[in-house]
Amino acid sequence: MIDRYAKQRIFLGREPEARLRDRRVAVVGLGATGSVLASWLARAGVGHLTLIDRDLVELSNLQRQLLYGEGDLGRPKAEAARERLAEANSSIELVAQVADLTSGNARELLAGFDLIMDGTDNFEARFLINDVAILTGTPWIYTGAIGGEGMVWPLNPPRTPCLRCLIEEPPASGDVDTCDSAGVLGPAVGIAASWGALEAIKILTGREPHPELARFDFWHNERQFIQPPATRCRFCTDKVTEFLDARWTLKASSLCGLEGVQIRVNPPRQLDLAALKPRLEARTGRDWKDSGLALTGTEGELRFTLFKDGRALVHGPVTPERAKGWYTEVVGA
Ligand SMILES: [Zn+2]
Repeated sequence: MIDRYAKQRIFLGREPEARLRDRRVAVVGLGATGSVLASWLARAGVGHLTLIDRDLVELSNLQRQLLYGEGDLGRPKAEAARERLAEANSSIELVAQVADLTSGNARELLAGFDLIMDGTDNFEARFLINDVAILTGTPWIYTGAIGGEGMVWPLNPPRTPCLRCLIEEPPASGDVDTCDSAGVLGPAVGIAASWGALEAIKILTGREPHPELARFDFWHNERQFIQPPATRCRFCTDKVTEFLDARWTLKASSLCGLEGVQIRVNPPRQLDLAALKPRLEARTGRDWKDSGLALTGTEGELRFTLFKDGRALVHGPVTPERAKGWYTEVVGA
């Protein structure tokens, strides 16, 4: 029978290939990595994909985020990704979640999957995914890229070590999202993410993935396979989920490579943008714009974007403390 999956079936065999139809996968982060992960899994016929991303498509994304075009600028990535993937394969179930993964919603957002794919660019999210994996026994695949390098590591604690067996704490301070100050080459992310998707197909069809952490420096033609640590950390041994248990409510961190601050709330909440608009206009004496997804306007030399889920971006010369103060005053803590 010649159909959509004919070539794949010749390689995988009928029965393993059919298993993909019953599998549910969450892709966290639909940037450069997530675009490639989700594309391969959708085209391979994974029966259900949930696409989780908090951001809107920006011009600086188009160099490497293959799911988006210029017509998607300003749209939520999760929505635009779902639409594009449905064009590629209308026979699978695709769910878009425009959401910021936090300790307050990670359990709920990542419940009921056979595999979690890491398409994020920050360690805070990865440690949350690792905690969910420890708690629920769900396998996950770490995929990272920076500069001309890529890294892939399939994890399934307690059968395998967990992320914290190798790196006990996130590299940067817990309050700050890590910045990708080295930049990144599109093809480097593409290769790493394709490697991750291939390992995913192994797991979803019942095979064992490559157990080592694979690290490639594509630019300098180097590769390394790192043996997983021989001893297990206390977190996966005793099911200690510190990141899921973290009880922060408001975080302000400097924006990477831009002057400004990002504010996140935990758990995410629904802001009534229509009700906030007149209040902000009265406060600032200027017009604010409500797009339905976000409310934007200025106060003094600062430009504010308030998202429906409670997040905010403050562009301009401002400290995290001052941005947090403004937010508390205007929106509440
Ligand atoms: Zn561990």
